Amino acid sequence: MTSSLIDNIASIKQRMALACQKSGRPLDSVQLLLATKTVTADKILKAIKTGETLIGENKVQELKEKHGDLSVIPHQTHFIGHLQTNKIRHVIQYADCIQSIDRLRLAEKLQRRLEYEDQSIDVFLQVNTSYESSKFGMAPEHVLEIAQQVTQLDRIRIKGLMTIGLFSSEVDKVRRCFRLLKSIQSRLLDKGIPVHELSMGMSGDLETAIEEGSTMVRVGTAIFGKRPYPDSYYWNESVEG
Ligand SMILES: *Cc1c(COP(=O)(O)O)cnc(C)c1O
Repeated sequence: MTSSLIDNIASIKQRMALACQKSGRPLDSVQLLLATKTVTADKILKAIKTGETLIGENKVQELKEKHGDLSVIPHQTHFIGHLQTNKIRHVIQYADCIQSIDRLRLAEKLQRRLEYEDQSIDVFLQVNTSYESSKFGMAPEHVLEIAQQVTQLDRIRIKGLMTIGLFSSEVDKVRRCFRLLKSIQSRLLDKGIPVHELSMGMSGDLETAIEEGSTMVRVGTAIFGKRPYPDSYYWNESVEG
């Protein structure tokens, strides 16, 4: 079990390195985030002990449950799941960054809670680059306007953009999603919005994402194995905050 976990991480690192090489990028220009939904704290600890320091959780409940066990070892936790406004107060207690800011109202409620707690937080804006109705994220044409409003919220530091690429075996269509996120990044950077991070690429498409400029790939299945629930359980909650 453990040795295959270690092997899996090594082989992901190798895939990342090859993709960097292929696109003439330095190896350290892309970070690996372990997507740890449904993975036990014990297994996550083993992964962190191999030298990985960045994990991502999708559910507030899991974030809370594993927090104690994981607190024995230094690491950073990003929240990468759909966030309901009534869970904000828990997330800011346990996460170092929220990658899934997908609507202005969420950012505004987040700001209010951060003021109340006298705290601040890093965020990424999540963009629906595949235009699939099943996916969360703001529409590409709204990102600039929303980003400009979020920059007015002084407790929120915008660090980057996040997207989930189209699930397709047609690489060109997947690539289009990542290229779109990169072009949105350029527009925002031109306007002085510091979205230096591009969180894109997962188990199946990380090479394409790196070729298109990803600075952070989020990998679950290829490291921890298949999950017990379909991803729609995480990505298609119909609850709005
Ligand atoms: C689960 C998840 C991932 C990882 O997906 P894999 O295909 O298992 O690598 C990445 N990003 C988000 C937002 C996720 O929910």
